[in-house]
Amino acid sequence: MIKAFFSRPGSKKEIQESLSKDIKDADERILIAMGYFSDKEMKKILQNSNATDKRIIHNYNDTAKLKIKNFESTILGKEWDRKSNLKENICKGSSMHHKFIVIDDIVWMGSYNFTSAAQECNWESMIRIESKELSMQFRSEFEYMWLFSNLNVSLNGNSCKFCGDIVQNPSNHYRIEFKVEINEQEEVTGYFFLVSCNVFNNGKEGGEFPNWCNLCNNETEESIFVVEKGPKSIGYTVFCNNCFRIKLLSYKEQLLKYKNGK
Ligand SMILES: [Zn+2]
Ligand SMILES: [Zn+2]
Repeated sequence: MIKAFFSRPGSKKEIQESLSKDIKDADERILIAMGYFSDKEMKKILQNSNATDKRIIHNYNDTAKLKIKNFESTILGKEWDRKSNLKENICKGSSMHHKFIVIDDIVWMGSYNFTSAAQECNWESMIRIESKELSMQFRSEFEYMWLFSNLNVSLNGNSCKFCGDIVQNPSNHYRIEFKVEINEQEEVTGYFFLVSCNVFNNGKEGGEFPNWCNLCNNETEESIFVVEKGPKSIGYTVFCNNCFRIKLLSYKEQLLKYKNGK
């Protein structure tokens, strides 16, 4: 089911009203990728949500970056690094310019930022799509951005900081490893991300990447290696970014238990 919503100069809040209804009904997730977020009313609506998975990705140069209670947040995008020695390039940085929200299996997307200008001054549109299939695509992209916000150092605009090349697609250009350290008692004692340039690894983009998720068995273009390093052995597993998120949460929990037990 698809429906369009419009915001026009004035005080009628068509988009906000319908959005907040979905937010109130949210059960599983509210995933927000929003270029600019300064609307305090929207913040209030969001922090009262009872959804389980509540996360927001902010753009790096959004000055507001509102902290929303009960939401995890991260920042994506990067200012141009003038000191680095890069080839001529049209990108003067990279913005997280999305305006989309995934609420359970509903996707909202369009021109609308969570700002009072969008609400009361601008001409804006949003479409609301109820579709499990489409929401999976947006969730997958959200997870990839979430992951990449941890690895932001590797990109400068659209160039790779390691090899200087213009990247065609970060998910092919970089090999992402997540290393987990496990002790004799099989407790998680630490973990870290490792990102390396595939150009160095394989000599070309889109090199020898496993493209099968070991957890959900789905084909994935954005494979993430999880390397579990124990005293006795090293285990490698390949995950899609959706499954990786689930795995990461379990590692976080285990690490917390280990640290509290100390
Ligand atoms: Zn590179
Ligand atoms: Zn998977």
